[in-house]
Amino acid sequence: MEQCCQNNFKIAIVGLGPSGVYCAINILELFKKHNFNNFSLDLYDKGQILRTILPTGNGRCNITNALEDVRDFVKNYPRGEKFLYSIFYKHSNFDSIDFFKSIGVDTYVESDMRVFPVSQSAKDVRNKLLNKLNSFGHIRLINKKINSNLELKKYDKIVICCGSRDTKDLIESFSHTCVDFKKALCALKIENANNYPKGVSVKSLDGDFIFTNDGVSGPLIFKISSLNAYKNFPYEINIKLFQPNDLIELTKKFPKKTVLTLLSNFIPKSLAVVIVGKENKKAAEVSKEKLISYSELKLKILSCASSGEIVNAGGVSLDELDKNCRSKINPNLWFCGEIINVDGFCGGFNLQNCWSGAYVVANDVVSSIINK
Ligand SMILES: Cc1cc2nc3c(=O)[nH]c(=O)nc-3n(C[C@H](O)[C@H](O)[C@H](O)COP(=O)(O)OP(=O)(O)OC[C@H]3O[C@@H](n4cnc5c(N)ncnc54)[C@H](O)[C@@H]3O)c2cc1C
Repeated sequence: MEQCCQNNFKIAIVGLGPSGVYCAINILELFKKHNFNNFSLDLYDKGQILRTILPTGNGRCNITNALEDVRDFVKNYPRGEKFLYSIFYKHSNFDSIDFFKSIGVDTYVESDMRVFPVSQSAKDVRNKLLNKLNSFGHIRLINKKINSNLELKKYDKIVICCGSRDTKDLIESFSHTCVDFKKALCALKIENANNYPKGVSVKSLDGDFIFTNDGVSGPLIFKISSLNAYKNFPYEINIKLFQPNDLIELTKKFPKKTVLTLLSNFIPKSLAVVIVGKENKKAAEVSKEKLISYSELKLKILSCASSGEIVNAGGVSLDELDKNCRSKINPNLWFCGEIINVDGFCGGFNLQNCWSGAYVVANDVVSSIINK
């Protein structure tokens, strides 16, 4: 590849979470591969580098998901499905797994396809990424908050990966549209929470959830919160607890047993008590409609709770980015990670957005310099 040696290209990456660090490593790797040294890379973060990876997966870091088909993979993004398609073709979940292996992070796949480091330690993942980053020259770590585009005027190429907390003003300073940020993966507060059995987990047909002090949490609830991120509160949800026909069949077999006893075959008794209320009749005395109604749990959602794996929907409008996450407004500007209007369900999908986006950006930044 032809090299351009007139300038010392000044590159800035702002935000050193998973996406910023993965992008930096890939830029450095590519320049090394091309034996290109005519650049400097300034890495900005207002806090501690990669601290945001530490709480991931409850400290175990759910690095990615092992779903094989990209078409299935992208379905796990309520926002960004189409946009991510070509990005995942350029750098898939398996490419990320290979990358992590190359830096000493071996992984394994759980039965639900979530991928974790064998060390079960987000701290280990952080340390291995930092070791890799520090193995290169040409970098300067700068502990500073960047508030607007004006502070980055001296750079030839700028990558913004600041995540989705308080980044609207920064996005808008670059004349980009910021789609409103909304909590997307969170526990939910419900009406009459005190009536429900706190701490009790339920395996429903829609997924697993648990009653908390003020509402509901767990994988199903995170998914519901994500799908309804832009819905106004309060709203109602219906959770399909079990197949109504299974209860109807059981009442035919055991007509003299109480409906509470029979319901307890499908859901925890403490929840069955709430659902049946005072009308604990013998099964034969309960109408078919009533039996069917017991199979669904209707909940009124009041707001997001503060617990859970919180990811924000919203961010840089995807209409203003090309397929390499390059700004359509400024050809020397890129965005990747949670700052763009992409968010996924639980299961490693949010970090995969970071890895793949960062890889694609790194390649585009480098080719914009080397192929100039
Ligand atoms: C508790 C929790 C658990 C999670 N677990 C998982 C999981 O197991 N698997 C998964 O796939 N996803 C998980 N996620 C989501 C995942 O962590 C995020 O999607 C991911 O961290 C986003 O990475 P990012 O680099 O884009 O942004 P961030 O991780 O938010 O990093 C942004 C960085 O930019 C810096 N920054 C921000 N603004 C500025 C500024 N103006 N100037 C300078 N620096 C700035 C910040 O200090 C930060 O270091 C979890 C999230 C949470 C909160």
